[in-house]
Amino acid sequence: MKQILLALKLNLRKLILISTILSVSCLFIVSVFILNYVIKDQLIQNSLLVNVKYASKVANSADQHFDDMLKELKYSAELLGQDFSNPQLIQEEAKRLKHQSNKFNSVLVVDKQSRVISFAPQSLNLSPHILYKTVGITESLKHKSTYISPPYWSVKHNLIVLLSQPIYDRNKKYQGMVGGTIYLQKNNLIQKMLSTEYDFKKSYMYVIDKDDRIIFHPDPSRIGEKIINNTGLDYMIRTRMGSVRLINSRGIENLAGFAYIPSVNWIVVSQQPTEELFRQANVILLKVSVGILIFYIFIFIIVWRMSRFISSPLNSLAKMASMLNQPDIQENIKQVDPWYFEVLKFRTSLLLSSQTFSEKIAELRQHVNTDPLTGLYNRRGMQIFLKEVMNLGRDFAVLAIDIDYFKQVNDRYGHGQGDAVLKTLASLMKNNFRDEDICCRIGGEEFIVLMTTSDAKVAYNAAERLRKTIESSNFNFIEPITISVGIAFWPKSSDDVTEVFKMADNKLYQAKNNGRNCICY
Ligand code: GH3
Ligand code: MG
Ligand code: MG
Repeated sequence: MKQILLALKLNLRKLILISTILSVSCLFIVSVFILNYVIKDQLIQNSLLVNVKYASKVANSADQHFDDMLKELKYSAELLGQDFSNPQLIQEEAKRLKHQSNKFNSVLVVDKQSRVISFAPQSLNLSPHILYKTVGITESLKHKSTYISPPYWSVKHNLIVLLSQPIYDRNKKYQGMVGGTIYLQKNNLIQKMLSTEYDFKKSYMYVIDKDDRIIFHPDPSRIGEKIINNTGLDYMIRTRMGSVRLINSRGIENLAGFAYIPSVNWIVVSQQPTEELFRQANVILLKVSVGILIFYIFIFIIVWRMSRFISSPLNSLAKMASMLNQPDIQENIKQVDPWYFEVLKFRTSLLLSSQTFSEKIAELRQHVNTDPLTGLYNRRGMQIFLKEVMNLGRDFAVLAIDIDYFKQVNDRYGHGQGDAVLKTLASLMKNNFRDEDICCRIGGEEFIVLMTTSDAKVAYNAAERLRKTIESSNFNFIEPITISVGIAFWPKSSDDVTEVFKMADNKLYQAKNNGRNCICY
């Protein structure tokens, strides 16, 4: 795991981006899941509600029509009952029933022996001498009351439903019936009512009777068929009005609303395939998801920008943490804008660290460039100042100083005493020269003083002052300690610095030869 993380070369910005991508993706997936559920559930509820409303509306108006038709038949039955032996009246009445409102496809007046004694339209061409034992006629005569047949095939090969009313004479004796038919597979009243523009998103309607037979269906070939394997059928017959999710006889899941037509004991079903609804839901979901996605991408871009804004000061500080030895590092650290707490803390600590660091460096430099015994600059320190003085182009004098017969001091009084002499001498030197003059110990008991002057007199006077001071100083020895000094000038003596030093050395050698405790220049 750690290997993978290392391989990814993570930094704060990447981490912010990765966590943003993770959270935004999770949010997106969860939102799509929730939306999917909510949209589908809502569409299902709506569809069921719309289907119930529509089915009940249609059922109401159909009931009104069938009720009217039954009333019309009843009126005729009563009229015919007054004078059932009058063929002309019967003929007139059949014609009137058929043509007055044109609600029936055909009208029949049948006597109790099942002879069709009158019919309309004439094109039916039924014989008054034949006993018609169709389901409708037989059952109607058997019932002797208001009767609505199931769908059945008529003698003229029409799939029909028969609505009939009994005819009783004045003595309440049953005489037969008057009936009106609806040709289920031809233009008929139900078709007019149900085949409206209602074709929204594959919705369709059908009507079933109490025996599960199809009275009306958009597919005419199915009219008359008995419905089997419809999972909602029992519930619909039992409940009469409501909604149900059902799987129809073709195995397709539907959202159905249904309502009862009391006058004919039928049920109107309005339904929509669930799959079609889900297709709609998916289209909506896709549109909403694209919207959400665009929004999330927008958020991501903002975070992406912000991540740079957040990580950049930390990143700069982290880089600077590894460059604390650079001369202008403190200035660079101060330039980082501490716009939030962590950066402020980091910046402060880094500034403190860099300060401590530079102090430590300075201390180390001091150690490297100074002589531990006397505290004067060593050869290295001298070189640094020499470089600086030359860079500035300032004239200077080189004073080469050597203690006379120092070997003897060591020999007589010991090395420790010798060191003490060197220390005392160093402090006398520091007192003797000005601050801008550089006093260095470049060897055992050899010293160099760099004086920023081109005036030989000034240099000589300073050297002489030191010589005298040392000569008259009490080093706790029987013999006084003396020094010899050689002086050369840059660039007066030579342009070449090395040459100038050599010349100072030669002058020192000359002073030694001259009997020591003197100055040569
Ligand atoms: P002169 O310079 O006058 O010719 O005589 P000298 O005795 O000083 O001779 P030289 O300069 O050659 O001797 C240097 C002596 O300084 C040798 C050594 O004993 C002593 N010396 C060098 N470095 C140190 C040091 O660090 N401590 C002490 N105590 N003595 C040192
Ligand atoms: Mg010497
Ligand atoms: Mg000496």
